[in-house]
Amino acid sequence: MAIRRALAQKRDGAALAANVWTALLEAYLAGGMDDAQMAALLMACVLRGLDAHETRALTAAFVASGETLTPPDPRTVDKHSTGGVGDTATLIVVPLVAACGIPVAKLSGRALGHTGGTLDKLEAVPGVRTDLTPERFFACVREAGCAIAAHSDRLVPADKRIYALRDRTATVAQAGLIAASIVSKKLAGGARSIVYDVKTGRGALLDDEGQARALAHAMVTLSAAFGRHAVALVSDMEEPLGPAIGSGLETIEARDFLSGARRDERLETLCIALGTRMLRVADFAGEAESALREALANGAGAERFERMLAAQGAEPGALHELREHPRSAVARAPRSGYVVAVDALALGELARELVEREGPSAGVRVAVRIGDAVAAGAILATVYGEDAAAAQAAQAFSLWDAPPPGRPLIYDEIEAAPVGRSAAAGSGVSTLETK
Ligand code: URA
Ligand code: CA
Repeated sequence: MAIRRALAQKRDGAALAANVWTALLEAYLAGGMDDAQMAALLMACVLRGLDAHETRALTAAFVASGETLTPPDPRTVDKHSTGGVGDTATLIVVPLVAACGIPVAKLSGRALGHTGGTLDKLEAVPGVRTDLTPERFFACVREAGCAIAAHSDRLVPADKRIYALRDRTATVAQAGLIAASIVSKKLAGGARSIVYDVKTGRGALLDDEGQARALAHAMVTLSAAFGRHAVALVSDMEEPLGPAIGSGLETIEARDFLSGARRDERLETLCIALGTRMLRVADFAGEAESALREALANGAGAERFERMLAAQGAEPGALHELREHPRSAVARAPRSGYVVAVDALALGELARELVEREGPSAGVRVAVRIGDAVAAGAILATVYGEDAAAAQAAQAFSLWDAPPPGRPLIYDEIEAAPVGRSAAAGSGVSTLETK
């Protein structure tokens, strides 16, 4: 009855008290609250929203549902993207930051909907394991300076179940639920400083820019309330971030980016922006941007990437042997004009289908960006794994006579100093600054 009463209150728009959230989570994990009841609660949250107190209570209850880790090095930094298409940034920026001497212990997820999952990208390299025990995870960080692992079932088990339920019940896209889900996992992972990349645009979880800003704000405020130094960038996901879409193709992209074989400009801009914030929140002593650029130029980032993969079990030479699927076809422009839209969502879904059917070497590589002028017959994208999908890929590109208005790659930056560690002692909210 207490569960039904809480559900009714939330349905009618009331905010639930912290101890109610804790009790509901405990009941759900212990079997006293079933999936139907939790799904109803989640839908009420989507329709009614969650206030800051509720989000914080839910986050604390999530963290309390499992173990928490403590990285051996207090400078350890973590990074999280809310998910996107062609978002290869993690594979590039994690080794780059490690090459600058700041340890990175990154816990990642699987593909969700049309967005790619970092674990799937790593596992495209034969031999690589991401199901590391916490002990092995930190041993890899010590060996290579960085590691990327799956959340162990011992961390935030409540989120694992609820996330799966949200995926099935169309209750993913709510800022409070997303913030609690993500931040609880970052807190349990133990890093003292965190950089969030909150995506906005049609390929993002939240396509509305205002909602993305609200999510960024919620995540840094929450992180600060739990003693973390956090920064969030709000970045564009109106079109794919990097050219490669698909697990193995993105790993190839990261390899070639780090080695200098090819470097996509948008990917580079965002990686440098994220990397400088990661170094800053971790109190890096030097000049962040030049340190990152040097690690790119002298191959230190590429070397870290290989070292990390080796520590996680990669077969020798496996990264260099990765190739695109031998079957490929190109999508061509049906007319001349400017590229005015690239449907990241459709391309993300297409790449995921191709990977599911044909394996990690399948996917899509886009050849043009929004704003580019193309001639009739120009290549818009290459589809790997299945020839017939090229026509479908071509549909994702809209061409028009006039160029589209420009838009930024980074919309906003939000930072919050940790509560209790800031110079200006006070509430988390008062230390929050928006740049
Ligand atoms: N990623 C997460 O980890 N949780 C969400 O709720 C959404 C994206
Ligand atoms: Ca929008």
